[in-house]
Amino acid sequence: MNQDYFIDEKLIHKLLEEKINPKKKEIDKILTKALLLKGLELKEIAALINISDKTPLEKLFKTALKIKKLIYGNRLVLFAPLYTSNYCSNNCLYCGFRRDNKDMKRKCLTLEEIKEEVRIILEQGHKRILMLMGEHVSECSFDYFLKTIEAAYSVEDSKGSSIRRINVEIAPLTKEEFQKLNKVKIGTYTVFQETYHQETYEKMHPSGKKYDYFWRLYVMDRALENGLNDVGIGALFGLYDYRFEVLALIQHAKHLDDKYSIGPHTISIPRIECAQNAPCAMNIPNPVSDKDFKKLVAVLRCAVPYTGMILSTREPSEMRKQVFNLGVSQISAGSKTNPGGYKESLINPEDEEQFLLNDTRSTGEIIKSVIQQGFVPSFCTGCYRLKRVGKDFMDLAKPGLIKLHCLPNALTTLKEYLVDYADKETKQEGEDIIKKELINISDEKRREKTVEYLNRIENGERDLYF
Ligand code: SAM
Ligand code: SF4
Repeated sequence: MNQDYFIDEKLIHKLLEEKINPKKKEIDKILTKALLLKGLELKEIAALINISDKTPLEKLFKTALKIKKLIYGNRLVLFAPLYTSNYCSNNCLYCGFRRDNKDMKRKCLTLEEIKEEVRIILEQGHKRILMLMGEHVSECSFDYFLKTIEAAYSVEDSKGSSIRRINVEIAPLTKEEFQKLNKVKIGTYTVFQETYHQETYEKMHPSGKKYDYFWRLYVMDRALENGLNDVGIGALFGLYDYRFEVLALIQHAKHLDDKYSIGPHTISIPRIECAQNAPCAMNIPNPVSDKDFKKLVAVLRCAVPYTGMILSTREPSEMRKQVFNLGVSQISAGSKTNPGGYKESLINPEDEEQFLLNDTRSTGEIIKSVIQQGFVPSFCTGCYRLKRVGKDFMDLAKPGLIKLHCLPNALTTLKEYLVDYADKETKQEGEDIIKKELINISDEKRREKTVEYLNRIENGERDLYF
């Protein structure tokens, strides 16, 4: 075991037991502290995650939304995932791409096919993508993946728009690979630990490179030590006790923050979905109820206020709407989880998909519904492009200053979307929300500059940001 093993399983179990029935008074005190936006102690998080009564739960939800608005304002950042290959030599018991799923039609996209996928994603209005693939050294090597990133950045759609930020979610890399990845200019590098509980982890990953719990656990250390600026962590909820995973995610975040002064840029919160020939997706070991899922989102928002929280289309639209109000700050839209899925309307997509999606609405429908819910859909990539990354980003996010950039950039990127891609109804509703939200830009000069940018976009300029 590594010397500075930062997941303390014994401590987590002890705290979860000690805080099993938190008193209302204690909860109130913790929630008041959470509003200071400085995060919480592990024992306080253990108390929140053990809440079961309705009244304290509602207080928790309200606090989470307040924190989200204080840090990020009223925006929700959108992205689309792009799967480049479903070959995989691992055997994760919950995933459709697993090696032993012999019914999966395997595919590794050519660079031309990738460009075509990107063109379709761009025509939906997206500006940021998340590129993913299975782990297979010969069928989809790391060098191939680097080429796919360059190919994706090179595409222009009919409006002359290109992808402005590519985030990456691929198997843990070596030091040398991170140095190469750095050169192709990516945004965030993400890996989910799946479960932080070592014994469960080893059961879920019976063979292949992924069996090594510690190789995966220390991937973000390797990333930050080798030039990456922004990293994303996550747990796959349903493998082990969700309360344990929440506390472990916090220990991971604290470890990165203490050691590198860069906490995780994002935390992802996937719940296991149905997947072909994947025993633990058909029979989930520790299912997380909707009530507990909402609670864990709100607890994470209180515990690490500065960190973006990502929700995918694994969740059904109704649940997505509910957790936007609990602290989620980034969402995928119009997703496909099979390589080539954007181009093909397949007869049997499940033969190539990693898992089934529950929110199958188009990007346009999701944007309309986000606006109707009162949030500003944002395609912002400003921080990454102005190098507000790593510690610089954290220095703005922690005291709640990042929203000075987030809201204006959300409004200018939404304006681009409305002019270039939206239907008539969305256009009207979008213009209304822009007008309404301009008032929330507290700095007068910034507000005036935003209005100027909006007019310039109306008149044909693009890519104006703060
Ligand atoms: N293959 C790489 C890896 O495992 O690190 C890249 C990421 S994989 C394409 C994306 C993530 O999908 C996995 O980390 C896992 O958490 C998630 N996933 C796999 N099967 C799933 C399922 N049945 N339901 C929900 N999420 C799943
Ligand atoms: Fe492969 Fe990743 Fe799926 Fe595991 S989760 S089988 S590593 S694609």
